[in-house]
Amino acid sequence: MLGPSAVEQDVLVLGAGLGGLCAALALARRGFSVTIVDQQAPPWPRVGESFDWETPRLLEHFGLDLESLYARRWLTRKPGVVLWSNSTRADHTTTLSPSPLLMRALGRATVSYHGDRSRIDEFILARAQEAGCRFIEDRVRKVELRGDRVEGVETQTHGRLNARYHIDASGRARLVGRAAGARARPCGPKMINIRRRHRHDYDGRGTRLYLLHHEGRLVWAWNIHVDERTTDIGVVIPASYLRETSADHRPRARPEDVYAEILSKIEPLSGFLASHAPEGPLHVCSFRNDVVERIAGPNWLSVGEAAFVLDPISSGGVTAALRSGRFASILIGDALERGTPALTEREQRDYQQRLSQQVEFVNATVRDLFDYHLLWNEVGLAFYIRILVYPQFYMNWQNSVLPLRMRGGARLLRVLQRQLRFVTASTVRALDLIHR
Ligand SMILES: Cc1cc2nc3c(=O)[nH]c(=O)nc-3n(C[C@H](O)[C@H](O)[C@H](O)COP(=O)(O)OP(=O)(O)OC[C@H]3O[C@@H](n4cnc5c(N)ncnc54)[C@H](O)[C@@H]3O)c2cc1C
Repeated sequence: MLGPSAVEQDVLVLGAGLGGLCAALALARRGFSVTIVDQQAPPWPRVGESFDWETPRLLEHFGLDLESLYARRWLTRKPGVVLWSNSTRADHTTTLSPSPLLMRALGRATVSYHGDRSRIDEFILARAQEAGCRFIEDRVRKVELRGDRVEGVETQTHGRLNARYHIDASGRARLVGRAAGARARPCGPKMINIRRRHRHDYDGRGTRLYLLHHEGRLVWAWNIHVDERTTDIGVVIPASYLRETSADHRPRARPEDVYAEILSKIEPLSGFLASHAPEGPLHVCSFRNDVVERIAGPNWLSVGEAAFVLDPISSGGVTAALRSGRFASILIGDALERGTPALTEREQRDYQQRLSQQVEFVNATVRDLFDYHLLWNEVGLAFYIRILVYPQFYMNWQNSVLPLRMRGGARLLRVLQRQLRFVTASTVRALDLIHR
């Protein structure tokens, strides 16, 4: 057991979330002393994920190359997203894949990846430890603040830890934000995710998303191959769905029944459970899309889901976590090099704005998908989905290419986002009026 304040270092990362791990790696490579504390040693239970087209570029900034993980068979290639819906129009299935010409013009590859986050996070922790980071397995019980500054954290077995700067990467536990009394602005209802892995061979065609009009609302499911022989299948339903009774008046209490019920209604998956054995347990979690109102303080920054929850249907959560980790490592690294005890007001504001504006934009656009889900019966899934996806893709790219330190960068992004949001929302509402 360490005594009071026995661990004093440059940076303390609370929780081994993805953004925090990458920030720790970057800061350790810049020569700073970094400690990561997580309540659990790896392997951590993580969801199987589909990465968007910015994830590989962001990982490159941390010196990590997804192609080398692919060579280890930890990833599968994602050339696009195959969408299915039980819409009444003929186009039940549509494929979204990026145009090679456009991707070349934007300096992006045409293929992204799916992967098993448990393996990837463990791999990044190992690189961070090689770079000199220290890992402590312990539970953070309390974050001590004096005014806006984090003074230290109280852990279950190692006592008090402190550092010059702190990164909150504790996911939805939001250790620093909660201690600072920061509220979250929600977007949409509380959702439940039920998922399980199954043995299934990958056909190389990309992420499968299933959009199901079911009992007057939209529920959705994914099918993501975390390796060539294993797929992660998840269903996402509003929390209220579990409290209701089914069409045949049976209560929907058991997650396994709901999982089987939703899959049976999705035509391409209807016989799946009978012929594909599960690999591992059923996981259930709840989440709500939101943005925490305060994600930056004088000596702390929140990254990943400690700062915001991006709707998982956008496949952008990993990119958002990595981007926040990258920004955090730049700002904190520069402040440590300057020898200043605090981030400037402008740094805190730019960090907050650059990250939260985009998440709010994506979440609002995804709400349009849910609130107007009957619309694509009229206009066609392929057309409707592109109205929503192209602006998201563009904003994501803009946020990557605009340098964090650019004067007026956050303001420029805000103007772009407002304009794009106006165009997207007006188009959807106009189509809705026409087809009502
Ligand atoms: C259902 C679902 C599906 C998703 N699918 C995708 C997808 O396909 N593609 C995509 O890009 N994104 C997806 N996302 C989003 C993505 O998973 C997250 O954005 C990403 O995992 C970021 O989480 P994180 O790293 O911030 O936190 P986490 O991965 O939750 O890590 C937080 C860590 O903090 C630790 N911790 C918490 N409390 C304490 C404490 N008191 N003391 C010490 N340690 C603590 C935990 O042990 C954990 O290791 C999905 C999200 C959900 C909910």
